[in-house]
Amino acid sequence: MFIEYDVFRLRAAALLDRITGLCRAAGRDPREVTLLPVTKTHPAVAVEYTARYGLGAVGENRVQEAVEKRAAAAAAVRWELIGHLQTNKAKLAATHFDRIQSVDREKLLNALDRAAGELGRKLPVLLQVNAGNDPAKFGAEPAEAPRLLDLALAKPHLQIDGLMTIAPLSDDPAVARRTFANLRAIRDALAARTGAPLRELSMGMSADLEAAIAEGSTLVRVGTALFGPRG
Ligand SMILES: *Cc1c(COP(=O)(O)O)cnc(C)c1O
Repeated sequence: MFIEYDVFRLRAAALLDRITGLCRAAGRDPREVTLLPVTKTHPAVAVEYTARYGLGAVGENRVQEAVEKRAAAAAAVRWELIGHLQTNKAKLAATHFDRIQSVDREKLLNALDRAAGELGRKLPVLLQVNAGNDPAKFGAEPAEAPRLLDLALAKPHLQIDGLMTIAPLSDDPAVARRTFANLRAIRDALAARTGAPLRELSMGMSADLEAAIAEGSTLVRVGTALFGPRG
């Protein structure tokens, strides 16, 4: 059985309070940080809870799962892809997602730009950067990020909102904090060099939210703390 709405509601309220407190502690305006509920592996009703609570978007990590869930969910929310995207699924992803956070290579940029053009839309994306230099993670290497951004900014059908990263799994909270500080430094350097604002810094999940907000996250992607453990 999936959780009841009341459980979700209490968790969401507690989490938003926590985010507000972390923003205050970091001297930041809580309105700068958006909560993105991550509904992957959870049923369509998780999306409906999110909408009912007034959170406007969900994150999913697999295209096919999201396409099915979107058809099943009686809720109007924005859908964000946060998981690795194969180039041959670019058209499907561009059709069904409102933003794609996991753009990490030139081939994928090309495929998404072409797909968005065919769909007659401008597709918002984030560039995923492996800011923790984690061999287990997808994402452009930090040294490749400037070139990837230059290519991305030249695409007529893509809108580059900012950067995304996933911190390496570690028991040491300093690892996540360093990763997030690095992503912000990369963003600041890229923004200064290109003049593109790159406003969005998508970083932080249930376990490393605090470090992410302290380092400037504008978008925290949270699954477990809202919906409980995944299967
Ligand atoms: C699953 C996932 C999350 C959410 O993780 P939790 O630990 O459940 O909060 C965030 N970001 C990405 C990219 C994910 O795949």
